[in-house]
Amino acid sequence: LLEISQLCKWYGTFSALHDINLSVAAGEKVVICGPSGSGKSTVIRCINQLEAHQHGRILVDGVEVKPGMKNIAQIRRDVGMVFQGFNLFPHLSILNNLTLGPIRNLGVSRDEARERAMHYLKRVHIAEQADKFPSQLSGGQQQRVAIARALCMQPKIMLFDEPTSALDPEMIAGVLDVMAELADEGMTMICVTHEMGFARKVADRVVFMDAGEIVEIAEPEAFFSAPKTERAQLFLGQLL
Ligand code: ATP
Ligand code: MG
Repeated sequence: LLEISQLCKWYGTFSALHDINLSVAAGEKVVICGPSGSGKSTVIRCINQLEAHQHGRILVDGVEVKPGMKNIAQIRRDVGMVFQGFNLFPHLSILNNLTLGPIRNLGVSRDEARERAMHYLKRVHIAEQADKFPSQLSGGQQQRVAIARALCMQPKIMLFDEPTSALDPEMIAGVLDVMAELADEGMTMICVTHEMGFARKVADRVVFMDAGEIVEIAEPEAFFSAPKTERAQLFLGQLL
């Protein structure tokens, strides 16, 4: 479903990504981890072209994603994204945050968009908040709204970039539970997270990045119990 080959990205003369190769099958769950500045967010942002890459190929369901492409809107429909900050529209109710994209960008009718919104709000266990505004919700609730909003576009892949790292500790589990449920339902997911419990439970593969490169790809059990590289050992040691 996603095929990244020989991906390179520079910011000016700084090499942020070097020769990234990763393919993700439909239904697969991949967790990306690694030290700060290792390029995790940059990979995620290249997939939906929030950042332009200079070299290599990215294919989403067979469509090449490239800088300046005409059908970028289609890619952004197919690839849902949830960030660390929730990025909800503060002046819109929760319901209207969810109906906006489908009405504007998918041409869905208002009634159907509402129905869809309520469906996904139920799935993230927050339907009773539909008429509130984002500022009236807790961080964890806002993040679940952000997930529901992305799901309303019925994406093929969901990208998460540290979705719980801005949350108070007591809010984290609720968001991770929703993500785990989504994984159980077969969503293809790429998650940048340092939540190793989540990675162990949900990931099919863990990708470890350092200094703009993929250093190690392994199944979670193998990665956490016996990382092959010294860099991964060092990283995991620091997490404890
Ligand atoms: P973190 O865990 O802190 O979120 P990360 O692994 O997500 O880190 P990236 O945000 O992908 O790291 O950044 C990779 C490198 O690229 C870093 O060294 C960063 O300073 C650099 N970088 C990121 N965005 C830009 C930019 N817009 N301009 C210049 N350099 C950038
Ligand atoms: Mg990041």
